[in-house]
Amino acid sequence: MDSANPAEQSETILSNPTPSSPSTKTELIHVFFHEGMLNHDTGKGVFDTGMDPGFLDVLEKHPENSDRIKNMVSILKRGPVSPFISWHLGRPAQISELLTFHAQEYINELVEADREGGKIICAGTFLNPGSWDCALLAAGTTLSAMKHIIDGCGKISYALVRPPGHHAQSNQGDGYCFLNNAGLSVQYALNTGCRKVAVIDIDVHYGNGTAEGFYDSDEVLAISLHMNHGSWGPSHPQCGTIDELGAGKGFGYNLNIPLPNGTGDRGYGYAMRQLVVPAVEKFKPDIMVLVIGQDSSAFDPNGRQCLTMDGYRDIGQTIRGLADKHCHGRLLIVQEGGYHVTYSAYCLHAILEGVLIIPAPLLSDPIAYYPEDEAFSIKVIESIKHYQINTVPFLREV
Ligand SMILES: [Zn+2]
Repeated sequence: MDSANPAEQSETILSNPTPSSPSTKTELIHVFFHEGMLNHDTGKGVFDTGMDPGFLDVLEKHPENSDRIKNMVSILKRGPVSPFISWHLGRPAQISELLTFHAQEYINELVEADREGGKIICAGTFLNPGSWDCALLAAGTTLSAMKHIIDGCGKISYALVRPPGHHAQSNQGDGYCFLNNAGLSVQYALNTGCRKVAVIDIDVHYGNGTAEGFYDSDEVLAISLHMNHGSWGPSHPQCGTIDELGAGKGFGYNLNIPLPNGTGDRGYGYAMRQLVVPAVEKFKPDIMVLVIGQDSSAFDPNGRQCLTMDGYRDIGQTIRGLADKHCHGRLLIVQEGGYHVTYSAYCLHAILEGVLIIPAPLLSDPIAYYPEDEAFSIKVIESIKHYQINTVPFLREV
């Protein structure tokens, strides 16, 4: 990335907003970022293993690398959506803030691991020298993005952060994640007066850490659309199946939507309209959190869900519509996965175009065409809908 401080650039943008396609619904998106997060070095190896068995001449970077975030920053600075962006500098979280979501012993373990020079937390998840400072920046930056909304300084914030967080549970790191950035921000919202928060997670993987954190709560509606990947070991015991519905008074407020591989734009659109919109309409949140991972794209090395820019744009519009209708437009967007270094940035641009309700695409899809066959996905979505309506009390309330 260039060396300009994003916070400095924001002043120029704010003082001279010249949107190319003005819309009556236009808001600025307040992007929270700190380039210190680029220092989390996940290394090289055979894909995300961190190992080199010696069979390959060319080892690639770990998929969760800083290049992906550099491109997300640059496309928001130099892409056509840039006039709608206001930049804010992120900050590290305090340990006391982490304890609103995470267990003390787990935080102690991470602090100790950092002091001793690093630790493999679980498969593919490397706390290397410097990583802990980046994790603290990701958590604190996301909290700042939420605080900006809660304080009434803006309606839409986007936490552009790494390492990601939605797999991190109260007492367990998982899937490249150490601290649950979104979960911390949801708890902050609840602690500062929000009564109901709806979290919609479109990363291709189950947002198991966020789900686990609010599993007993009826104040948080957690909806995750993901690949049907199941549990992947001791760090990720949750399965993401439709019957993981929450517990106690939280029963029914954890809605999992495991989608078939290759679901695509039309299938995701159908799932949003048939499952996500009705659930949010019934829940009536006072703030929404959109957890994004562009690893649900058609070209991601970690996912098989086949969304393209059109699909992401559509999801962004739908979520903005819900936020406008129920939450006075209050929407926090939190960055998670997305590992194709080019396409993740382009898909981010499309999501934000959708959130801004820009009438026509500002940026064309560089990979353009991906064939879709949504017939099977629609059958699966219909069966999930049938199950949820018959099982979840609040969805049946008039
Ligand atoms: Zn993911």
